[in-house]
Amino acid sequence: MSTGYDPLYLYIDGEFLSAGQRDTSPVINPATGAVIGRVPHATPQDLERAVQSTERAFKVWRNTAPYERARILKGAAELIRERSPHIERLLTLEQGKALSESHYEVASAADYFEWFAEEGKRSYGRVVPSRRAEVQQLVKRQPIGPVAAFTPWNFPAITPSRKLSAALAAGCSVIIKPAEECPATTLAIVRCLHDAGLPAGVLQVVFGVPDAISACLIGSPAIRKVTFTGSVPVGRLLAARAAEGVKPISLELGGHGPVLVFADADIDQATRLGAANRFRGTGQICISSTRFLVQHSVYQQFTEKFVAATEALKVGDGMMPDTQVGPLSNARRLEKIEALVADAVQHGATVLTGGKRIDGPGYFYTPTVLADVPMDARVMHEEPFGPIAILMPFHNLDDALAEANRLPYGLSAYVFTKDARTAIDAGERLEAGMIGINHFSMVVSELPFGGMKESGYGSEGGTEGIEHYLTTKFISQV
Ligand code: NAD
Repeated sequence: MSTGYDPLYLYIDGEFLSAGQRDTSPVINPATGAVIGRVPHATPQDLERAVQSTERAFKVWRNTAPYERARILKGAAELIRERSPHIERLLTLEQGKALSESHYEVASAADYFEWFAEEGKRSYGRVVPSRRAEVQQLVKRQPIGPVAAFTPWNFPAITPSRKLSAALAAGCSVIIKPAEECPATTLAIVRCLHDAGLPAGVLQVVFGVPDAISACLIGSPAIRKVTFTGSVPVGRLLAARAAEGVKPISLELGGHGPVLVFADADIDQATRLGAANRFRGTGQICISSTRFLVQHSVYQQFTEKFVAATEALKVGDGMMPDTQVGPLSNARRLEKIEALVADAVQHGATVLTGGKRIDGPGYFYTPTVLADVPMDARVMHEEPFGPIAILMPFHNLDDALAEANRLPYGLSAYVFTKDARTAIDAGERLEAGMIGINHFSMVVSELPFGGMKESGYGSEGGTEGIEHYLTTKFISQV
């Protein structure tokens, strides 16, 4: 076992439970291929206990004053900041991303707890004037009930934090199943909530076979709300399960982010920021830029600069201080990326740089730039979710928008232009939940995060983020 990695637990009814006789699965450092830990799988009895505990704790937490909830959540934010150097290392060890990115991610996770601690105090209702003088009409916002949350491996700090902070601030109890590939980061954040005084049972953490756990939790009458971040097929499955029990679900699913680069843009800026954004997190980011649509007159210039910026990126073990691009996070992603590039090449695509696996231990793949990719190549339809950039030329705004909006995804889109009219038109007509104009940095706790079309529904973050965890009750009194 590598040093510096934490022991792994389930967290049920306020207790951290080690594996004991339970089944386990390995956690692998993607930079080395070494097994660094084993995550315990919850038994059916563990899940039953978690469900009973969440029901019991919901009755306590919903009646806890929002100011007290806020005190605990802000305490957790402070502990996350204090423990950040340790949590960042865990994140890089199990997920692979560069330490600098882990640092940013953990800081951002703390921000979510601080933001929603305050938002919880502002879950106002309203008094509606009545048609009869003797009637009082009260509209109340109440916590919706126990939540089942499912989070993926690409952001094991931010994604769980975005869900937990909002749900807990609203007064909900939560059972979370983080990704089995990256359990330690989420557990370290949960430990901060525990140490900040979160009452036993308000939060449970379970791991196991994802399908069995989601079937059990979503099917349980105790669960009143489901939230999932991951792929479109799994989102569709969980939405169908939630529909059985008429439970609302929030879904943050895949994307295939277009970047529209107009001839009047600052091309140096667009290529520098574009290459950094595309290969951040080794391209395993749902809001990543994947398709670079570049106006004809600057296509050649953009291509040369983009390839040079890509080739300048330092690929390596995320634990090394100068690494900019780490390995892919697991073996199946490496295989998927190899297959997508091979398929594109077979269909006639040109590999401008990269396009191969890096020999040696770990799941490394060279940052890859593809041009001339025909429409029947899979990568033109499937989310790459790895270090592949696609470059393609366009003539005018209408062409660019047709390509940008072609896919069923609608998560993120980006525009580079100095022309205000172009920026306004593109912003208005792009089918995406999040749009960046002349930059890529859009994810902060005070802003909504979410998509449209098959990328899902229900923004997390911002004032919108707490809405899903509240329900509306109307009381009319004579
Ligand atoms: P996947 O579809 O097998 O799993 C995605 C996530 O869902 C994982 O965390 C997994 O543990 C969970 N999951 C899978 N089946 C589940 C079930 N039946 N019930 C509950 N949870 C379940 O894909 P993967 O190989 O882990 O990831 C690759 C794909 O997932 C990518 O192509 C990308 O589209 C998507 N993804 C999206 C995000 C995002 O931020 N939106 C994050 C990670 C992965």
